[in-house]
Formats: sequence, C-alpha cells, structure tokens
Amino acid sequence: RHNLDGDEAVRSTNDDASHCKRFAVHLGYWSDPYLPLLVRNTDRKTPEINRGYFARVTVITNMVEKFIKAMKGNCQIVNFGAGFDTLYWKLKDAGLPVKRFVEIDFANVTSRKCHYIKNNSKLMEALHCEGICYLDEEVTYNTTELHSGIYHLAAADLRKLSEVESKLKECSLEFSVPTLFLFECVLVYMPIQFSHSLLQLIADKFSTTFCINYEQVNMTDRFGDVMLSNLRSRGCSLAGVEACASLKTQEDRFILNGWDGAQALEMNQVYHSLILPQEIQRIEKIEFLDEKELLDQLFHHYCICVAWKDSLDLKLNLLNI
Ligand code: SAM
Repeated sequence: RHNLDGDEAVRSTNDDASHCKRFAVHLGYWSDPYLPLLVRNTDRKTPEINRGYFARVTVITNMVEKFIKAMKGNCQIVNFGAGFDTLYWKLKDAGLPVKRFVEIDFANVTSRKCHYIKNNSKLMEALHCEGICYLDEEVTYNTTELHSGIYHLAAADLRKLSEVESKLKECSLEFSVPTLFLFECVLVYMPIQFSHSLLQLIADKFSTTFCINYEQVNMTDRFGDVMLSNLRSRGCSLAGVEACASLKTQEDRFILNGWDGAQALEMNQVYHSLILPQEIQRIEKIEFLDEKELLDQLFHHYCICVAWKDSLDLKLNLLNI
C-alpha cells in the first residue's frame, strides 16, 4: 500500500527541479529555449543551487550526447521520472536525433506536460520528422499521454513493473536497439526492491543498454542527514535512500541486477575535472559565491553513476565518465 500524500510530495519534486533549472536558465548558466515554454516560474534560487544544477545538466547532457554519437544515432532513449525535462527538443536542435525518445512519469505530471506541449507550436513542431521519414508522423494524444513517430510521453508508476513493461511496448521500443536509460533524481523515491526490479527488467529485456543515474550519495554523514530531513519534512518518502550510502552502493545496485559494469563519480570530481574550464570560468562570473564550502558539501553529496550491459560488444564500457 502506497502513501498517497507521499506520492503527491514526490510528484511535487518535479516542480522544485524544474523551477531551479528555469531560474538558472534565466540567469544564463546554460541555454534552453524550451524550458520557458513549460515553466514560467522564475523565483530566485541561491548561487550554490544554480551551480549545482548547472553541473548536473551539463554532465548529463554531455554523457547523453557521447552515447548518441558513439551509436551514430541508431539508438533509443528512455527518461524515467522525466518531469518537465526538455532533452528531446535540445537534442533535436543539436542535430542529434535518435530512433525513439520515451519519457515516463506519474500521470499527474505527464498530463501537465502533455497540456503544455499540445498548446505550443514550437514544442509541437519538433515532434514531426524532417526530410525523409519512415515513421508515422501523426501525433496522437489524450489527457495524460502523447505519442508521435519518435517522441513518446507516457504515464506509469515506476514501482509497477507490468505497467512499465506495457508502456515500453506501447511506445514501440525495440529491445535489440542500443538504449540509454536516464534516471535524474528519481530512484531515491522508490523502495529499494522496486528500483532493483526495474533495473533487472531493463537488463533482462534490452541486450545493449547504458544507464545514467544522477542521485544523492554519502547520505550517511551529518550533512546527508540534514538533506534527508529537509526532504522528509515535505512529506517525501525516501524509501530508496540505502542505495545512496556510497559510490560503491550506487555501483553495486547495477551489478547485482544483471548489468556488466558500473562507475560512479562524486559531483565534486565532475565539476573540477569533467566540465570544460572555459565553461566553469564563464558560469563562475554569473554570480558571486559566498559559501564555497556549502557548494563543496553539496557536490560531495550528489553523484553520477553510469552502467552498461553490452551484449553486442559495442565497447559501452569506454563511454565511462
Ligand atoms: N528527472 C527530472 C529532472 O531531473 O528534472 C525530474 C526530477 S524530480 C526530482 C523526480 C521525478 O520522478 C518526478 O517527476 C516524479 O513524479 C518522478 N517519479 C518519482 N517516483 C516515481 C514513480 N514511482 N513513478 C513515476 N514517476 C516517479
């Protein structure tokens, strides 16, 4: 039995994430012409939060682009707990289309996204194929879902495997095509046995797959306690937090569930060694940062974990971070 109030609080974490991204875009940390079409709120956030989101969006985008280029576009992307993410539109603009792009979230979240997409010509235009297109170009939708040739927005509770499995089929995903799964701050809200089963399902169904999981880590120290009690005080169930104890527990959950390999890195390392120095210089001029230690602490408590299952030996392990 799930706690409905808890689910509502989890759904509202999408508003937090999208409002933070919206404000950072507003200040020019990165460019996203599509987010303002989905999110109007530009309430101020602290410089630490803005830099944290900059690092998160930059490293995830870089990893996704690396995967698409390595697969020469012959690949699919599934964004679980996608919220108001705009990656599909940004990749299209960057000239990096894929064969299928699927987003799944609670119906409550997808219905709002569906409404905004349907009512915006710029978002809708990007759902049509350009040039020669062998897929049905028709865009169909109801209140909670939207389906087009490549882009699919579908509603499911990720804790219910049969629901997830039938949505993956409805969105015409091909199990033999290399597929990237993205979880951006999602698994922590699910009881560990459900996220384990979901990762196992992916490894069972897809012969060639790559996963990017961005999430909390090092949650067992005092700072971690404070972060968790902040989330809990808003009614969020953090049933999956035991996998956020360390980089090793983040990696192990993939290895335990049928994946060939995994690598997790703290955001401190990502920020200081994986983002282009000229980008760091540019964004560090946007706002003065008073509390460097606070940012270091935040970066120490988030990580990116990539994992792969590589039956075709496409050298997905070389795509590590
Ligand atoms: N990935 C987006 C981003 O980073 O901007 C949204 C992140 S938000 C913190 C977490 C998202 O996961 C929410 O949109 C929430 O509705 C979704 N989510 C959490 N648990 C879920 C579940 N059991 N089924 C479907 N969606 C879920």
